[in-house]
Amino acid sequence: MQITFLGTSSGVPTRSRNVSSVALRLPQRAELWLFDCGEGTQHQILRSDLKISQLSRIFITHMHGDHIFGLMGLLASCGLAGNVKRVDIYGPSGLNEYLQAALRYSHTHFSYPVKVHTVHPGVIYEDDEFIVSCGLLHHRITAFGYRVAEKDRPGRFDVEKAKELQIPSGPIYGKLKRGETVTLADGRVIHGDQLCGNTEIGRKMAYCTDTIYCDGAVQLAQDADVLIHEATFAHQDADMAFQRLHSTSTMAAQTAYAAGVNRLLMTHFSPRYAPGNDIELKDLLREARAIFPKTEMAHDFMIYDVPRRREIDSKSTIHN
Ligand SMILES: [Zn+2]
Ligand SMILES: [Zn+2]
Repeated sequence: MQITFLGTSSGVPTRSRNVSSVALRLPQRAELWLFDCGEGTQHQILRSDLKISQLSRIFITHMHGDHIFGLMGLLASCGLAGNVKRVDIYGPSGLNEYLQAALRYSHTHFSYPVKVHTVHPGVIYEDDEFIVSCGLLHHRITAFGYRVAEKDRPGRFDVEKAKELQIPSGPIYGKLKRGETVTLADGRVIHGDQLCGNTEIGRKMAYCTDTIYCDGAVQLAQDADVLIHEATFAHQDADMAFQRLHSTSTMAAQTAYAAGVNRLLMTHFSPRYAPGNDIELKDLLREARAIFPKTEMAHDFMIYDVPRRREIDSKSTIHN
């Protein structure tokens, strides 16, 4: 599970930060999932190491332009240039009508299937390895946060040890791999757990933007390995955060703290904190770290490898 930030500015792009989009690479299955798709997201993908041909799912938080204006361009290019097989898009009601209207008036046809799923709080996608759920946030319009959870996997089956114990290969191995107890023809009772390594704990990522501090975000982020949370404003500008229903950096940190996450990555920064201004982004980072020390500030093209639980803290996982 590898996260790449493609846009970290709120509202409008700046010279160094594009508007919202986060890519999640799932290397084990050569898939790319996107969270939000602000204008210019396809250009950002081209400038990254991500492969557009691997794009398979897009999750949209809400219908504000800085989160969706890149969608039509990206989807149209996927048909012309990429060899995308199928894209499933998840988002609030209105998203399908928006795309249908854009298709109709721009005389665009996708050369591959695109399916839009209108989401409601709860589980919105599940397969053998992943479960994706969404929950309501608190913003000026309906906005959803997303949680991607990798399922726990049984530990690696020790084939060598099984051979040493002279357990006949075949279906018995399958049972033991699943942790079941098996009685062999010679009467020996073998517990699968003895032959399997420790369970691999699945990784969990939560993506919460745009929102002011709310219980929905805390619930969604519960025990996550990484929380990506918006921090549009500095604490000093909290009145603007309340007016526009965005978060301050301290609200993002409070959410991370309340949810007990392992790491907070802040994004969606107001351009007003550019270097040289009274308040700068480093001040937002300082404020957040006072509450939740394991906070980082995202920047465009920042990559974060979500570590497995046992790897946590043993190595740095952020490449700049
Ligand atoms: Zn926004
Ligand atoms: Zn918004």
